[in-house]
Amino acid sequence: MPAVGVLALQGGVAEHISILTKLGCVVKEIRTPAGLKHISALILPGGESTTLISLMNRWELIRPLRAMGEEGFPIFGTCAGAVLLSKEINEKEHEVNQDSLQLADVRAVRNFFGRQTSSFVEELTVAGLAEPFTGVFIRAPLLLPLSDEVEVLSRVKDGPVLVRQGNLWLSSFHPELTSDSRIHMLFLESHGILKGSG
Ligand code: GLN
Repeated sequence: MPAVGVLALQGGVAEHISILTKLGCVVKEIRTPAGLKHISALILPGGESTTLISLMNRWELIRPLRAMGEEGFPIFGTCAGAVLLSKEINEKEHEVNQDSLQLADVRAVRNFFGRQTSSFVEELTVAGLAEPFTGVFIRAPLLLPLSDEVEVLSRVKDGPVLVRQGNLWLSSFHPELTSDSRIHMLFLESHGILKGSG
């Protein structure tokens, strides 16, 4: 099976690696453009999107990643990773001038649910999953679709928290912070990287 890449510049890298390994994937940590060869999908982990984008800039990853995303390569961004995939970024109270990969027709409202101390856990209904999924939200963004191409797979009272636009998946919560691998599985199965269990 071709490897699944995890962007390993900052943030929750180890947790994604452990879920993917549990699913039987070969995992490759990505730090440079050369590392992007020979992977079949990529995870952009949570962390701090402002730090991540400046590290991606320093390592000259922005251009190749943008091209891959535009060409249909499967990329899943979680929390800060979702912010990085979004075409528009703002904060609840004000506009922010923050660069991103600008791939998904999504407006990410950063820190929508408040600060670290307002972290919360919520049982989510997710399209494609028979049972609820425990969503862990830490300074999470709200993910507002900007076009009809964006499918909402899960929402909380305030709005969408898991969305998909073709090859691009964005979650505002952290699916890697539980032992539940079903969302990673959905993402990989939908791109034929893992075979469905039935
Ligand atoms: N609030 C952070 C950001 O916008 C994301 C937090 C996280 O990834 N847990 O970058």
